[in-house]
Amino acid sequence: MKIIRTVHEMQETALSLLTDNKTIGFVPTMGFFHEGHLALMEQAKKDNDIVVSSIFVNPLQFGPSEDYEQYPRDEEKDIIHAEETGADVLFIPDTQDMYPRKMVITLDVTDRVNVMCGRSRPGHFQGVVTVLAKLFHIIQPTKTYFGRKDAQQVAVVDALIEDLNFPMELIALPTIREQDGLAKSSRNVNLRQEEREEAPWIYKALENGRQLVVDGEKNPDIVVKEVLDTINCYTSGKIDYVELLSYPDLQPVSVIEQQVILATAVYFEGARLIDNLLFDKNGEIAKRLK
Ligand code: AMP
Repeated sequence: MKIIRTVHEMQETALSLLTDNKTIGFVPTMGFFHEGHLALMEQAKKDNDIVVSSIFVNPLQFGPSEDYEQYPRDEEKDIIHAEETGADVLFIPDTQDMYPRKMVITLDVTDRVNVMCGRSRPGHFQGVVTVLAKLFHIIQPTKTYFGRKDAQQVAVVDALIEDLNFPMELIALPTIREQDGLAKSSRNVNLRQEEREEAPWIYKALENGRQLVVDGEKNPDIVVKEVLDTINCYTSGKIDYVELLSYPDLQPVSVIEQQVILATAVYFEGARLIDNLLFDKNGEIAKRLK
């Protein structure tokens, strides 16, 4: 596996791969790898000639009171894991190289962000699309891989690729979970012990909500209330939001009669956790993005 630390070398490498007609599968990350990240790389390996993953904790997508400094980092272990998983290139640029000066051109995200994490993290998705647009230009992937755990991010990246005509395919893969159901996240290490014990209730709460839909419930308010009540009852976390929206356009629904997302974010002292389920009007887990 080749480790590349400069934008210039990454660009040269990508160009020469494209000249050789190689397909490139790209997995952007912020590092501190777990099985969720590695599953994306494994799929990219199956689908493409070359797998490029990037590690970049992007300051642009963190708010001033967020956890940019506390975000867990372990480059040495990440290199070992990526190599074992079969990544061909690990791109680890530094902030100065990615943002040598204040950006003059910025991207604005006008839809799909006035709900869920976009509402509680103003500017977050602008930061995400800005760094992704740069990475897509630098790496020129054939396919790019994202986790459904960050389903709002998937919806925004889907629009980024379509609106700006990036010539690549977005592949969104299912959420990888711990045995007790907690969605794997780099941030889980920052949870205190009691919080870690309570955290699986987030997934159980979402599953309880989905079960109501399986049983025939069509009213989103009743489903949302079930999730709110379960999380409030079994965890000490402070709920940021529980929302049920159409997916991927993230519009409010009055009756569940299409593909929807049931999503939540919960603040614990150690970390803010997010999770979601995507399902159809019968509560069946969605297999495809749209
Ligand atoms: P991050 O490093 O948190 O920015 O995540 C990098 C990529 O891994 C994103 O596309 C995430 O959606 C994806 N990812 C993170 N956690 C999981 C998970 N538990 N299951 C599947 N994909 C995940």
